[in-house]
Amino acid sequence: MNNLRLWHKFLETIKPQVGPDNFKAYFLKTLLKSSSEGLIVLSTPSAFIKENLNQRFGVIIKQAFEKLLGQSVRLEFIVKEVETKTEEADEDFFRPIQTSSLLNPRYTLANFVVGSSNNVAYAAAQAVVQNPGSSYNPLFLYGGTGVGKTHLMLGIGNAILAGKKRLKITYCSSEKFLNDYVTAIQERKMADFRAKSRSCDVLLIDDIQFFSGREGLQEEFFHTFNELQAKNSQMVLTSDRTPQEIAKLEDRLKSRFAGGLMIDIQSPDFDTRVAILQAKCAEQGTVLPEDSLKLIASSLESNIRELEGKLVQIIQGLKAQNLPASSEHVSKFLGRPLRKSLAINHKQLLSAICSYFNVTLKELAGPRRQKELVLPRHLAMYILSEELNFTVEKIGQVLGGRDHTTVMHGRDKIKKLVDTDIEVQKILLKVKQKAILSTN
Ligand code: ADP
Ligand code: MG
Repeated sequence: MNNLRLWHKFLETIKPQVGPDNFKAYFLKTLLKSSSEGLIVLSTPSAFIKENLNQRFGVIIKQAFEKLLGQSVRLEFIVKEVETKTEEADEDFFRPIQTSSLLNPRYTLANFVVGSSNNVAYAAAQAVVQNPGSSYNPLFLYGGTGVGKTHLMLGIGNAILAGKKRLKITYCSSEKFLNDYVTAIQERKMADFRAKSRSCDVLLIDDIQFFSGREGLQEEFFHTFNELQAKNSQMVLTSDRTPQEIAKLEDRLKSRFAGGLMIDIQSPDFDTRVAILQAKCAEQGTVLPEDSLKLIASSLESNIRELEGKLVQIIQGLKAQNLPASSEHVSKFLGRPLRKSLAINHKQLLSAICSYFNVTLKELAGPRRQKELVLPRHLAMYILSEELNFTVEKIGQVLGGRDHTTVMHGRDKIKKLVDTDIEVQKILLKVKQKAILSTN
């Protein structure tokens, strides 16, 4: 595959995973510089984009290339000027929102699923909507990637927009704020910039951790902040960490940011993940059985964006192959990453094997060598090695103190069968499903 083709394939894969906005902002402006011997070099138009790609999307970029190339890869990012002109570049400075189209209407408080990881943040969001500027100012939401910070912030914006008061809402990413600021300096339009950034009733700034190290910008924003606060304009800020943890952020900003209400959004627990998947299915007009949703929910712990990406992939995959949405088919589409991120332990795997073959753990790990016990035992050796990366010694231990050569023999026997024997493939799949479902 040549580089261009590879890059196109990559973009196709990554688009549903990162969503159209990120896709446009980060991936369309980036190019694949080279790919050889497992080293992928991506050429980005700015240090900002480089950082974002690396920090926010590094893992999924790597996974996508590994899947496409069938080998493990390393990533390297370089900064290079490429043609980056988009419609956005022609836009004015960020402008207050007159229509709801600039605030992505997809993200509302109504379709934000509330669970134990985010209910405090949600309650704060409601309070802000009811009394913008007076209850919590600023509202500072922080948490890991893909836990719903942007969604909640835009939900606030949309709810205020839908309310009776005609408030001027400005939403922008830190990147946009920074770009507009830089442009304003270059074009000597600071007065315009200030007028615009300080005239709103509600200011929403996403991913404020990117203000780090930008001294001029911080100075400017400090005054914006003070002015907005003085006239009771509501500010909502998001960040992937607390103000204190943002490096190279002026102390006075740290204390301002922390001076309102600071709330973290945590990674959603299992039940919330299932509920979110259910909601996303409903949005798409699809219904997946609960077992399947549970499987998907157990494949990823923290990042809802990736969870959603996976869901979309699976739905598309099932449709393309005209398959029913059974947990069996779903687990096929979940593929390798599922196993790596699964928190199944060897006991769950072994008891899944036992219950599948209707034998006891004592028998499985015991000394007897009847036919009914040999296959389950070999499968156990294989699964523990493949799924949990257990060493042969360790496998020997958990299977009643067997010798490591015996384990190697059993494991390799199944390894050979797996590629050709559909029955064995089916059994493996069923056993894994059982183990996964028993974790939750
Ligand atoms: P963050 O800004 O924290 O990185 P986002 O707000 O962009 O994360 O959320 C990532 C994706 O997950 C979005 O598509 C969003 O709609 C979805 N999402 C996150 N939390 C929830 C939730 N509680 N309910 C419904 N969807 C959610
Ligand atoms: Mg975000």
